Amino acid sequence: MKEKINIVWLKRDLRTQDHQPLQFADDANIPFIIIYILEPSMIKRADWSLRHSQFVFSSIENMNKHLKKYSRSVDIFYDEALKVFKEIDRQFNIINVFSHAETGVKETWDRDNCVRKFFKFKNIYWEESQTNGVLRGINSREGWDKNWYQNIRQPLIINKFSNKHIIQYQNPRPMPKELKYRISNYPSEFQEPGENKAWEQLNSFACNRSSEYLFNISNPSKSRHSCSRMSAHLAWGNISSKQCYQFILNHVHFDKNKRNFRAFLTRLKWRCHFMQKFEVENEYETRCINKGYELLEKPKNKEFISHWMDGKTGFPMVDASIRSVKETGWLNFRMRAMLVSFFCHHLDQDWRDGANFLARQFLDYEPGIHFPQFQMQAGTTGINTIRIYNPVKQSEDHDKEGVFIKKWIPELASCPTSSIHEPWNYYSTNDMFNENSNKATYINPIIDHKLQAANARKKMWGHRSNALVKSEKQRILMLHTRSSTFAR
Ligand SMILES: Cc1cc2nc3c(=O)[nH]c(=O)nc-3n(C[C@H](O)[C@H](O)[C@H](O)COP(=O)(O)OP(=O)(O)OC[C@H]3O[C@@H](n4cnc5c(N)ncnc54)[C@H](O)[C@@H]3O)c2cc1C
Repeated sequence: MKEKINIVWLKRDLRTQDHQPLQFADDANIPFIIIYILEPSMIKRADWSLRHSQFVFSSIENMNKHLKKYSRSVDIFYDEALKVFKEIDRQFNIINVFSHAETGVKETWDRDNCVRKFFKFKNIYWEESQTNGVLRGINSREGWDKNWYQNIRQPLIINKFSNKHIIQYQNPRPMPKELKYRISNYPSEFQEPGENKAWEQLNSFACNRSSEYLFNISNPSKSRHSCSRMSAHLAWGNISSKQCYQFILNHVHFDKNKRNFRAFLTRLKWRCHFMQKFEVENEYETRCINKGYELLEKPKNKEFISHWMDGKTGFPMVDASIRSVKETGWLNFRMRAMLVSFFCHHLDQDWRDGANFLARQFLDYEPGIHFPQFQMQAGTTGINTIRIYNPVKQSEDHDKEGVFIKKWIPELASCPTSSIHEPWNYYSTNDMFNENSNKATYINPIIDHKLQAANARKKMWGHRSNALVKSEKQRILMLHTRSSTFAR
């Protein structure tokens, strides 16, 4: 007779506190194991990169430090989820699987459906706990806000970890050595992962870094320090939205720093608002939110795409932003928006050719925020105003002295500050663009940005009157802001 067990299946919830699935398992009367499944099909995806696996691995190591006290650990399985559960099922009689519900891309949604069928066939009960205030299966946004506030103010779960239900077993699907070696070497350029670091970061934001939060939010250098930098921790669940929200709301400095703290809390809500959209329509990963924009032609220019990805467009703010996010995994909101605007409007490229590239760079990649945000900036929602960011103005407004630009573009180290935003004017008579020069040379602008912006404006606003764009606009407003009959 096989021994009965429960399983806690970790996903984007890599923490030991405020964790409903862990609590369910601990409260039950049979042994349980805690697993994370690193799926070969997922890590091969175009939106996944080594840095994501590294963040996950280090977060789990951090969890294991806590869990050791209770003779527990998280086991990382390397295989497809269905195969992993089938393998465990051969050894044990699985009674329950506890996890958080995942607002993921279609592939994870399909994977979950496959696993669900297997569980049903085997009489295994799968309890998926709600997370981030995102609701499953809703067909209307009515009451969503109220529900979100109720949810975020619920008492935090204090996980206690009794050591009464320990079980010894051998992980039959460990990671291959070479992969383990690669993902266990966490690069020092990236922000540090794990539950401990998440709390350190939140505490330092509340106590020291937040006084200039709103003032610096669009400055690509200063925001690195004055923004909360909670995004990666939230994306991989080192901390819950609820923990963040309550910590800031109840903080002793709240009254002194109300404006900044409120702005932070609002953004935590935006986070869940975007994720809720994606929960209902995760097709946003591959198709325009407003189907009418599928009709818009965007001739592919491979050269433009690689100039953008390499940080070699000739526009200092665009290039510095790309180079910095590749190196560090983080960029402030304004510069993310500008990169998308430059790609989709100035270079007139299809958003799909840039979205996965940025997803791979962002350490905080969260599909439910990333794709809706990317499309909002690309102008393919039909419900938001179309913003075309002037890359020179962004640079003048938010990096006046060229500090950020000079940090990331060594070719411009000797460029006077007065010319840093439009170096082509200063160097037109110099050797900056001279390929034969033995100095590192900066590239000439690949487009005329004013002309391209004017073309984009005409194209994007002109398309707003398309009949499909208009009818889709109504559908989107109904589905994501008011009552509707749509359900999934
Ligand atoms: C094209 C594009 C792609 C993006 N992709 C992601 C992504 O994959 N993951 C991600 O977490 N954020 C994404 N953002 C939103 C935003 O840029 C980041 O959340 C923010 O820069 C993270 O830094 P922070 O934690 O210091 O943010 P703070 O300003 O301190 O905000 C606190 C938290 O609120 C949430 N938040 C902040 N701004 C937004 C926003 N505009 N929309 C939704 N949630 C927000 C984040 O969880 C963030 O950690 C994207 C924005 C754009 C324009």
